[in-house]
Amino acid sequence: MAVLKATQEAIAAAGAALRGGALVAFPTETVYGLGADASDGRAVAAIFAAKGRPRFNPLIVHVADTDGAERLGSFTDSGRQLAAAFWPGALTLVVAKQPRCPVADLATAGLATVALRVPAHPIAQALLRATDRPVAAPSANRSGHVSATRAAHVTADLGASVSIVLDGGPTPIGLESTVVDTTGPEPLILRLGGLARESLERVLSRPLALARGEPGKPASPGMLTRHYAPATKLRLDALEVRAGEALLAFGPAVPKGATATVNLSPSGDPVEAAANLFCALRELDGAGAQAIAVMPIPHAGLGEAINDRLQRAARSR
Ligand code: AMP
Ligand code: MG
Repeated sequence: MAVLKATQEAIAAAGAALRGGALVAFPTETVYGLGADASDGRAVAAIFAAKGRPRFNPLIVHVADTDGAERLGSFTDSGRQLAAAFWPGALTLVVAKQPRCPVADLATAGLATVALRVPAHPIAQALLRATDRPVAAPSANRSGHVSATRAAHVTADLGASVSIVLDGGPTPIGLESTVVDTTGPEPLILRLGGLARESLERVLSRPLALARGEPGKPASPGMLTRHYAPATKLRLDALEVRAGEALLAFGPAVPKGATATVNLSPSGDPVEAAANLFCALRELDGAGAQAIAVMPIPHAGLGEAINDRLQRAARSR
């Protein structure tokens, strides 16, 4: 595994590695992705092996622009409207696969739909253009673990099966993309994420429902009940710190007595809190505390997705 500063030469090398069937981890504006050529079934299989994913969940396929997306999927009116408003950005759209879509069945788990995203991060954009192939990329972390928002998280989680990690510093948003299924008569949120529900609703001028999975059959893989989890137990909505606890704080009024404290946003800004969330969970997970107390975080804006991730992380095994 080579960790390379994301220079032009490194991006060109990473593009060549992807075309050769290798795995490359790269920053996006949401989290680090573990990429493979989406049209190469063997390369896609290597993603599942590297992450230790128990099941072949469908993956998000990344392309450089909307034209590239339209070659892979056929868009409904709502899909087109959302793509026009939010691409490039933290939005993944599930659309029907085009008849001659080159994406490997393993990347779509054999579904007749494909999840597409045009990321905005300049390094992701440059890599997609250098590769000139659709790139399947889940988050670059061990299956079930907290997503990687720094190159060091990728190297800590994933082994030698990753040939290049492009280091582009911390990812700006810090939450995975929001996934919207646009194949039905009404768009449906499959996964809350880095684009707030309110922003989508403003563009569509109507409320958007969140898909509810049944037990054992999640609405989408990102909705597995336990996910995004540190090893240390979380105690949510904590207003005080108990003996032996570390504290994940939010806002200016921080209770005392924690063995270690990380404040997601001293000013109480949910956007800043989202960007710091996964890094903070990893840091406190390594602090050797009995549990991590988590202060309440308001649900508005990105707060909804932050609370979604914290609830999944808190579920007992
Ligand atoms: P991850 O690989 O952990 O970033 O998660 C991938 C996400 O993509 C999952 O949460 C799914 O919601 C979504 N996804 C990918 N393909 C599809 C699809 N064809 N239908 C529904 N959801 C999908
Ligand atoms: Mg993931």
